Amino acid sequence: MEATVIGAGVSGLTTAVALQRAGWSVSIVAESPPLETTSVVAAAVWTIAEMSPVERSRAWAIRSYEVFSELAQIRESGVVPLRQRELERDDLGPSWWDDKPWVHRLSREDLPAGYSAGWEIDGFMVEPPIYLLWLQSQLEQAGGRIELRPVESLAEFDGVVVNCSGLGARALVGDAEVFPVRGQVVMTENPGISEGISDESDQHRISYVYPRSTTMVLGGTRQLRNADLEPHPEEAERILSDAIHLQPRLIGLPVVDVKVGLRPARAYVRVEKEDVDGLTIVHNYGHGGCGYILSWGCAEEVVTLAGG
Ligand SMILES: Cc1cc2nc3c(=O)[nH]c(=O)nc-3n(C[C@H](O)[C@H](O)[C@H](O)COP(=O)(O)OP(=O)(O)OC[C@H]3O[C@@H](n4cnc5c(N)ncnc54)[C@H](O)[C@@H]3O)c2cc1C
Repeated sequence: MEATVIGAGVSGLTTAVALQRAGWSVSIVAESPPLETTSVVAAAVWTIAEMSPVERSRAWAIRSYEVFSELAQIRESGVVPLRQRELERDDLGPSWWDDKPWVHRLSREDLPAGYSAGWEIDGFMVEPPIYLLWLQSQLEQAGGRIELRPVESLAEFDGVVVNCSGLGARALVGDAEVFPVRGQVVMTENPGISEGISDESDQHRISYVYPRSTTMVLGGTRQLRNADLEPHPEEAERILSDAIHLQPRLIGLPVVDVKVGLRPARAYVRVEKEDVDGLTIVHNYGHGGCGYILSWGCAEEVVTLAGG
């Protein structure tokens, strides 16, 4: 059983490894290598999230949680457990994650001033440069490789091809529903912080503070249909000052990097099989701001859809 995966971001690499684990012989064709994708810019936290299609996305997120629990036992994977608090200015009522063992709803007394709801979440921090290369090493150890080149048409392939092209799906398969959501992040040194905190109450002014092994990743922006890859200094200042509001230990830390990534958004994540002129195409793209959160669940569904 042979399959070609288009894309070497978190979706393509995870899908390739999942297919190999199911006995497939897999190669990846990608225009950009793993460390030049949107995936490497991501904050890359596994946390509570809601995506469409709703029921499938919940199942994908939970499956990814299970796999990340296993990967957190492997030091080289770049996956570590992360406790974080997510705060909301308005209490929007019950959520699907309220009864999950990895979430604990904060009581009123535990909430900082100005917040009406919040959760403590035992999730995961994935360090993208380490994790993506670890996935690549898994692929290569099982005999797979990454060929770097743009693909103009899926019709050049035979058998099974998996489309993990993210934003590239607009051109590759003519999907006008995929659009960029610009995200800028600021990196500082890590002064010894081990827990994360976020406030995404305002969709247009999100704020998060997540620790990595040696740095902090601070966000962010969520700008719909904005494909500007240039970092903006005034946004970096706003991100830093909002982050300090959430985590005062950041005061005075020098900024070590500012990055921008374009989330591949879509009304719903497309994990779907299509048969076109004898070619089996399985799509896996459009994960928006949840590519890591959904990665293993989606990849394993691709394996099921690919058959074999
Ligand atoms: C600031 C920011 C913070 C984020 N935080 C999180 C988070 O905390 N948790 C989370 O789960 N997600 C987060 N995300 C979202 C996450 O980064 C994306 O959902 C994920 O990276 C999408 O991965 P992908 O592999 O589908 O696409 P990409 O990483 O964009 O990879 C696409 C691949 O397809 C290739 N490709 C495209 N077109 C072609 C073509 N025609 N021919 C050949 N190759 C092609 C590209 O070269 C690339 O290799 C964040 C994103 C940003 C920007």
